[in-house]
Amino acid sequence: MKKITLLFVFLMTTAIFLAQEQPFYATMDATDAIELQKELPDDIQIIATKQNQSAVFISEEAAHTLHRNVLTHGPGYVFKASKEKALQAIEPKVPKTERRVLDFTINQDAAVAEALDLVEAQNIEDQILELQAYGTRYHTKPQAEQSVLDLKDKWEAMAQAANRDDVSVRIVNHVNTGMPSAVMTIEGAENPDEFVIIGGHIDSTAPGSGNNTAPGADDDASGISTITEVARVLFETDFVPNRTVEFMAFAAEEIGLVGSAEIAEEYSNNNVNVIAYVQFDMTNFPGSANDVYITTDSYNSNDLNAYLIELMEYYNGASSEHEITYGTTACNYGCSDHFSWADNGYEAAFPFEASFSESNPSIHTSGDTYDVTGDAFKAAKFAKLGLEFVIETAKSNTLSVSEISGLDFDFIVANKILNYKIKNSTDRLEKMAVIDVSGKQVLTATDLGQQGTISLESLSQGFYVAVFTTDANKKLTKKFIVN
Ligand SMILES: [Zn+2]
Repeated sequence: MKKITLLFVFLMTTAIFLAQEQPFYATMDATDAIELQKELPDDIQIIATKQNQSAVFISEEAAHTLHRNVLTHGPGYVFKASKEKALQAIEPKVPKTERRVLDFTINQDAAVAEALDLVEAQNIEDQILELQAYGTRYHTKPQAEQSVLDLKDKWEAMAQAANRDDVSVRIVNHVNTGMPSAVMTIEGAENPDEFVIIGGHIDSTAPGSGNNTAPGADDDASGISTITEVARVLFETDFVPNRTVEFMAFAAEEIGLVGSAEIAEEYSNNNVNVIAYVQFDMTNFPGSANDVYITTDSYNSNDLNAYLIELMEYYNGASSEHEITYGTTACNYGCSDHFSWADNGYEAAFPFEASFSESNPSIHTSGDTYDVTGDAFKAAKFAKLGLEFVIETAKSNTLSVSEISGLDFDFIVANKILNYKIKNSTDRLEKMAVIDVSGKQVLTATDLGQQGTISLESLSQGFYVAVFTTDANKKLTKKFIVN
């Protein structure tokens, strides 16, 4: 018994040592690697570069310098446990199996409306304060592990209070950090093999304090509190998903996405069909004009990004009491845990609190405390978006909009021509607005009747949302891509 314990402690210590004290393998953006080599030639060795990604061997100092240089978010690199894994990671991805790509739809109006009214900013505030009270959640500190164990208890208590025997919470131990992650699962009632996941990281960092004072209120107690509020509301409304829904709180994001990388890789190795992954990392600092910023880095899913915009257009418009405004921004290489999912071939998105240049300047310092924001109104908007995403992608057994409205609608975009047709109904389309990713209306048309075509010649390449309004004031939204 004792031997096993000692061996365990030895293995854990070695793992932490590898990830922290010594030079280690990683992947990063090739341009960042070259810049870093100019600045610290003795601290980074570029082993190979493919498709603008480099496999590197770097010192901890180089890793910190990169962290400062990228000036965006996250570590800017992805930790790899060996040279072989680093080299393997920059190879072009070949999907192991054909994964089903979801046809994202919106038709859960009643369930979403009920859920949005129940979101409470106060709950988010309370949990951010609870998490910052650990003092630090840096992955090697005992408080980090304690925060994960306590979160497991909190999630279990929520599920128990709601009498949910379809909910389970588990701790996931890792190879490359001693800190565990926590995962809560609501088993899908009809398609349990299809997964919808939201997550964030529960660890924090503040190198300036030796990681002894790292409250991490915005980065990322805000994200963990946001997903907890999503779960709480789902339980309060007795939401039973058709697909399996998971909530994840990852270990050791700040040292190279360690926790999420291990979990996403395991899911991929087991051919788990993750329909969509959405990351909540920093949801509460109002640094920019809009509420939500969709990150458009190349590894993110265009379809999923367009879908998040479609959800906000549909449920959170200017006339709604749940208004959410949005824009777009770019993150960087491996800037948060969604990268781990994208890297394993899954559809991933990362809605963020601000444009990156205007995001919370206190993160990664001892000053990342709740009083920087002072309320949780912004995070509450993210919880609403999270609820819309989960309810619509995991679906419950409520009627769809088309069934409610009786509208059967054909919508096809090809060669910059939009074709539309209402079938089996006397409803007519009064107007249509096309909205781009920055939320700007770029095209309008009126008096469209029941069928016709609209030229999209004026639109540049990108993704858009078309919002149709019928004479009975019903709304139909459709996303499309112009190539
Ligand atoms: Zn973060």
